[in-house]
Amino acid sequence: MNPSDLEFDLRHIWHPYTSMTHPLPTYPVISAAGVELELSDGRRLIDGMSSWWAAIHGYNHPVLNEAAKSQIDRMSHVMFGGITHPPAIELCQQLVAMTPAALECVFLADSGSVAVEVALKMALQYWQAKGEKRHRFLTLRHGYHGDTFGAMSVCDPDNSMHNLYKGYLPNHLFADAPQSRFEGEWQPEDITSFRQLLLQHHNEIAAVILEPIVQGAGGMRIYHPEYLRQVRKLCDEYQILLIADEIATGFGRTGKLFACEHAQIEPDILCLGKALTGGYMTLSATLTTRHVAETISQGEAGCFMHGPTFMGNPLACAVASANLKLLSDSQWQPRIQSIEAQLKAELLPLKSHTTVKDVRVLGAIGVVEMKQPVDMASLQRRFVQHGVWIRPFGRLIYLMPPYITRSEQLSKLTNAINDVII
Ligand code: PMP
Repeated sequence: MNPSDLEFDLRHIWHPYTSMTHPLPTYPVISAAGVELELSDGRRLIDGMSSWWAAIHGYNHPVLNEAAKSQIDRMSHVMFGGITHPPAIELCQQLVAMTPAALECVFLADSGSVAVEVALKMALQYWQAKGEKRHRFLTLRHGYHGDTFGAMSVCDPDNSMHNLYKGYLPNHLFADAPQSRFEGEWQPEDITSFRQLLLQHHNEIAAVILEPIVQGAGGMRIYHPEYLRQVRKLCDEYQILLIADEIATGFGRTGKLFACEHAQIEPDILCLGKALTGGYMTLSATLTTRHVAETISQGEAGCFMHGPTFMGNPLACAVASANLKLLSDSQWQPRIQSIEAQLKAELLPLKSHTTVKDVRVLGAIGVVEMKQPVDMASLQRRFVQHGVWIRPFGRLIYLMPPYITRSEQLSKLTNAINDVII
């Protein structure tokens, strides 16, 4: 790549969460195939991130490429207001079939954050239609749900942009995050804070929103399924809607198709995104029950008040549909099990390092939590020298590789982590 292009990038293009005056380095990628990213200087990196949970089948997949190409020759986009089309119908049929039976009604939107906005708005309109003005959400500390305003307002208040946006964000309720580990013993006092907040505020709470089992960007925490079961039970008791944000955990990542299955519970509203298109393009879906959808439709407005320009984008739907078929035709469960076994074998021993605070693994997710925050730029450079793409943040170095990652490729990723933390 031309050095002047990189200069232009540095000077003019925002990258996520980095300064415009002292930006962190960026690495020019010119192509990607399978589990490898190709840098402009010809180096190939094994990808440990799946482009933030998304590229579950790897890059440049012939089936997904074909789905995009054949759809683009028919139509890339057409408005969804007053129009429908086969790619959206086919995708929603798959989504309705693969998610819990009660989730029958699908809203297609642009990104994970918008799926969360849609879920929150559905809950607000649901109560409005029932003649109650409920304006608060109950959620968990260490949660992360996106960067738009509604989503931001239910992100961890300490660990996110809350301080910066104090006074601009609505004041929601934050229960202590669960401490019981996924594979550890359930500590009944874990649910106390959540239960107290619910008891105290149930008349003003529209919905509970949480990331089931794995709290991602808010700390890569993996918690006990009993917590989720208790949340469901309490929501039922107080007739409060439960929103499961499975934008990161959905589509097999945790070893189950959806993380809620670890606790055998079903949400009233489900947010999906990221891996929905196999990492090809942006698309999200918010699913809900017929009861919620019908209640909203009987409200003052007579409809749900949201309608993005690119709603149901045919190109994205066609790729998503091919991606879900690829997933269901694949042996994803044994693949994830073997990735999990290998991550456990190769990462758990790192717990003995003096610099490491904790190591945890679930499905195709491996997390090494350091005692101190890492120097992202220098670690990134060292990972690239090792021929891998791993992007740490805060105190966390973590892997969520594409499901097609072979054993020796996974070892290259875990070896690189081992080498850099010494
Ligand atoms: N919810 C969760 C659990 C997420 O991990 C993310 C993205 N990191 C989002 C919502 C927001 O999705 P997007 O970045 O596509 O807006």
